[in-house]
Amino acid sequence: MKVSVFSAKRYDREYLDAANRSAGHQLKYFEDPLDLDTVALAAGAEAVCIFVNDKANAAVLEQLKAGGTRLIALRCTGFNNVDLQAAASLGLKVVRVTDYSPYSVAEHAVALLLAINRKIHRAYNRTRDSNFALDGLMGFDLHGKTVAVIGTGKIGRVFAKIMVGFGCNLIGYDKFPSPEFEALGGHYAVPGEIGKDADIVSLHCPLTPETHHIVNAETLSRAKRGALLINTSRGGLVDTEAAIEALKNGQLGGLALDVYEQESDLFFRDLSNTIVTDDVFQRLISFPNVIVTGHQAFFTQEAVRTISETTLQSVSEFASGRPLTNEIKAP
Ligand code: NAD
Repeated sequence: MKVSVFSAKRYDREYLDAANRSAGHQLKYFEDPLDLDTVALAAGAEAVCIFVNDKANAAVLEQLKAGGTRLIALRCTGFNNVDLQAAASLGLKVVRVTDYSPYSVAEHAVALLLAINRKIHRAYNRTRDSNFALDGLMGFDLHGKTVAVIGTGKIGRVFAKIMVGFGCNLIGYDKFPSPEFEALGGHYAVPGEIGKDADIVSLHCPLTPETHHIVNAETLSRAKRGALLINTSRGGLVDTEAAIEALKNGQLGGLALDVYEQESDLFFRDLSNTIVTDDVFQRLISFPNVIVTGHQAFFTQEAVRTISETTLQSVSEFASGRPLTNEIKAP
């Protein structure tokens, strides 16, 4: 099948080309993200392969359909950027990569937690400048602390398991409680109680209308003072301006983000020679107790290999009329 791959970086080409040696599709790569300005590039492609910040809204989907596209293949887990209702009414199938490596994201969440707690980002800069003073670098033992895991699905449970290894206590919140999480010693809290007793809160639920700004001024005010917040899930889960206020008044002790609400204007490109005009983001990164990585939690060899193979396997299933293992249907 002809597949137009949007937001394609060098590493996407490398891993998709490797996976395509056995799949044998015609892949055409575009560095641009998919949106209304670029959708015309996909004309004639039966499948379109997109990533986290490509915009598959109703207007874009209509144009894709008009150009002959029948399959939208997301090379990621989250699908908040696709209008599933519009896709269904246009007869477009949508697939994603349901399961690649929960370890990639969970381990990155742990890396962010360790870095923000032990101030590794500051220590790294200090020692490079021959500053070996310890003032301002004090952290706390993870052992014995309480971690709130919001979303105890595949990634949340791997994260929880690692935290048990550190000797942490687990509180969870999920619409569908997991016996596996409970077997780790975790217990579930009611929504109003989330974070009340937690020293660390880590977000692992999808972005939906229900979870949008699940971390906001009110929930932050009810959190334990000085708690650390880790978000490797989706930027829209956190009201960034409320988080900035909580950092300013010390209610939030530290914030480590791999995702950001307005990341589509920033992430996955080198902007080091331009002026970043997002004042909220600039304020955020000005705090010494904030770390931002640019949506790289998934970025391990194992994860990218599986993402590429699963994506092309879905395209092959579609091409041969087989059932789509990883189809997402409109709710
Ligand atoms: P999953 O489906 O296995 O788990 C998600 C969990 O969230 C489920 O248990 C579900 O019941 C729960 N949930 C759904 N709605 C909820 C709500 N309203 N409140 C509380 N819990 C709710 O998914 P996963 O593989 O663990 O991935 C989780 C998220 O991680 C994805 O949705 C995606 O946004 C994000 N992600 C980020 C990266 C990255 O590189 N930063 C990579 C992969 C996934």
